[in-house]
Amino acid sequence: MSSEYLPREDCRVTVCKLPPHVKGLCTVKGTDELIFINEDLSEEAKMAAFAHELRHLRRGDLYSEEPLEEIEKE
Ligand SMILES: [Zn+2]
Repeated sequence: MSSEYLPREDCRVTVCKLPPHVKGLCTVKGTDELIFINEDLSEEAKMAAFAHELRHLRRGDLYSEEPLEEIEKE
């Protein structure tokens, strides 16, 4: 599992094991924005999942600190 802080996006991305149907998750802990990406995705799919999760954070889709599970279709 690797975790990386991205200054440009001001969020922390962690690539880790997630259920097969979950591409990514995003959540907010205090002032930290966190994105989790399924490690089993291809590099391209990881980038797409990251962009998707970042959009949720930027749109303010998160109103609680419960993780938003990524099961939507693009
Ligand atoms: Zn989504």
